[in-house]
Amino acid sequence: MGYSEYDLRMAAGESEEALRPAIAKKTGLREFSFTILNKSLDARRKYRIEWQYRVGVTSSALPKGEAPKAAGLGHQAVGRGRKVVVVGSGPAGTFAAAYLARSGFKVTILERGSPVDRRKAAIESFEAGGDFSGTDNYAYGEGGAGTFSDGKLSSRSKGIGPERDYIFSDFMAAGAPAEIAYMTHPHLGSDNLLGMTRRMRGSLSALGVDFRFDTAATDLATRGERALSVATADGAVEADWFVFACGHSAYETYRMLMGRGLPFKAKNFAIGFRAEHEQRVINQAQWGMDAIPGVKAAEYRLSAQASDGRGVYSFCMCPGGVVVPAAAYQGTSLVNGKSDYARAGRYANAAVVAELSLGSFLSREVGAAEALDWLEALERGYFAFSGSWRAPAMSVRDFLAGKAGGSLPASSFPLGLVAADLGELLPAGLAGPLREGLKAFCGKLQGYENGLILGLESKTSAPIQAIRHPELLCSRWENLYVAGEGSGWSGGIVSSAADGLKVAQAICKAASGH
Ligand SMILES: Cc1cc2nc3c(=O)[nH]c(=O)nc-3n(C[C@H](O)[C@H](O)[C@H](O)COP(=O)(O)OP(=O)(O)OC[C@H]3O[C@@H](n4cnc5c(N)ncnc54)[C@H](O)[C@@H]3O)c2cc1C
Repeated sequence: MGYSEYDLRMAAGESEEALRPAIAKKTGLREFSFTILNKSLDARRKYRIEWQYRVGVTSSALPKGEAPKAAGLGHQAVGRGRKVVVVGSGPAGTFAAAYLARSGFKVTILERGSPVDRRKAAIESFEAGGDFSGTDNYAYGEGGAGTFSDGKLSSRSKGIGPERDYIFSDFMAAGAPAEIAYMTHPHLGSDNLLGMTRRMRGSLSALGVDFRFDTAATDLATRGERALSVATADGAVEADWFVFACGHSAYETYRMLMGRGLPFKAKNFAIGFRAEHEQRVINQAQWGMDAIPGVKAAEYRLSAQASDGRGVYSFCMCPGGVVVPAAAYQGTSLVNGKSDYARAGRYANAAVVAELSLGSFLSREVGAAEALDWLEALERGYFAFSGSWRAPAMSVRDFLAGKAGGSLPASSFPLGLVAADLGELLPAGLAGPLREGLKAFCGKLQGYENGLILGLESKTSAPIQAIRHPELLCSRWENLYVAGEGSGWSGGIVSSAADGLKVAQAICKAASGH
C-alpha cells in the first residue's frame, strides 16, 4: 500500500462530494481511500473563488509512502488516586481534568456557575430583560467563557501540535463536526458547543471526575510553600495539587491568590470596541457578491499600525453572528460576539483593539493588582455612562470624523444601544490610534465605514500573568498551578485548553517523581 499527498482546487460552489472524482481524475487511480488534510477558501481573485484542498491518498497502486501518524499525548497511570482540585470548568480546567483523570488522579472540578443548560436559561432571561446573574453569564458557568461563542478553534500558539490533536479528538468525540480536523479556520458555533459541553461532562464523570457546580473557590489555605485546601461556601476541599483555571474575568479570585502570595505581574493587553456590519457588506467586500452557495459567511482579519507605533487589529470575528453583553459582574459593561455553526445571521462583528502597555501608558511601573483595578474601573465606567446594560455605541463614520450624536446603524446587540462618543469614553491616547486603524480598515474593506462600533471590548487577553517556574508551577509554590487564559500564558479556546493539558502533564511528571 502506498501513500501520497495532492493539492486540488475546486470551484467554491462545489461540495466535498465532488472530491473523489476530482482525485481520481488528477491521480488516474481507480481504487483508493483519502483523507482531507486541509481545506481553505481562496478568495484572492474575486472572479475565481475556489476551495483549496490538500488530500492524503492511500492506494495499492501507489508505489511508496506511508500516511503520517499523529504523535499523540498518551497517558501513564501515575495518579494512583491522588487528589487534584481544578477550579473552573472552561477549556483549560476541562482538559486539565480530562488528562489527569485518564492518568489515574481523583479530580474534583469546582465551578462557580451552573451546568450549561441552566446557564443558558439565565443568559436568555437576562437578554429578555430579566436580572443579571453574577454566576451564570457569558463569562461564567459550565464550559467557561467560550461556551456561547463562535467557537473559533484557530490558535497562534506555537508548540502545541500534540495538545491540539488531543483537544480536537475529544471535541469530535463530543460531537464536533469532523471538518474541524482539516479546515484552516475551524469553528464550532454556539449551538454545537452546548451539546458538546454536556457530553464532555458525561465522559469526564464516567472517568470519575467530581463536578461541583455553584461552588466558587473563595480562599486558599496554605502551609509554607504548599497549598492545603481551597475554601468554598460548602467547606474546604483538600487535595495534593491545585489548578486555578478561572479565566480572565475572575478578578476577585486573582486578588485572593495575590493576597495568598501567588506571584503575578502586569502584562500587555489590548482594548477597544466591537465593530458590527451587515454580513452582506463583508461578503461583497471579500467576494464581490452577496453570497456563494455552499460557502458560509465571509470572514476578515485586519491589522494596521498607528503613527505612534501601536498595533491596531481585528480579533475574534463572528461572521453571521451577534454582539453579546459579556460582563461577569453587575455594574460593568463590555461586549463580545457569538455565532451559530451555520453563521447565517444578518450581521458580522469583530473586536477592533489597540495594543496597550499599562506601564508606558501611565508612565510608571504598574503591578498586577493595579492592572486589574484599572481594567475593572474602565468596565465600570462604561456601565456608569449608560446607567444600564445598553451598550455605548456610535457609527464608524462619526468616530472617524471625531463627532458624536449621529444616528446609529442597526445592531444585533440584544439589550439596546446608547449613543456615545467612544473617543471620549476610551482612555485618553487610545482613540487616536484606533481611529487611524479603523481608517486603514475602511481602505481595505469596501463599505467598512457603514458599520457601527460599540464598547467596551476588554477581553482579548488577560492584563496579568502568573510568574511560572519552568515546570509551569507558580514560582515558589510546590503544588499550585494557574492555567489557561487567566494565567496570562494563553488566549482563546484551543491555546487555553492546551495550557490546561500542559499543566496536567507537569502534574503527572511531578507525581511520578521525575
Ligand atoms: C462571548 C465570547 C466569545 C468568545 N469567542 C471565542 C472564539 O470564538 N474562539 C476562541 O478561541 N476564544 C473565544 N473566546 C475566548 C475564550 O472563550 C477564552 O479564551 C477561553 O474560554 C479561556 O479558557 P479558560 O479555561 O482559561 O477560562 P474560562 O473559559 O474563562 O473558564 C473559567 C471558568 O472558571 C470559572 N470560575 C472563575 N472563577 C472561579 C472561582 N473562583 N471558583 C470556581 N469557578 C470559577 C468560571 O465560571 C469559568 O467557567 C470568547 C469569549 C467570550 C466571552
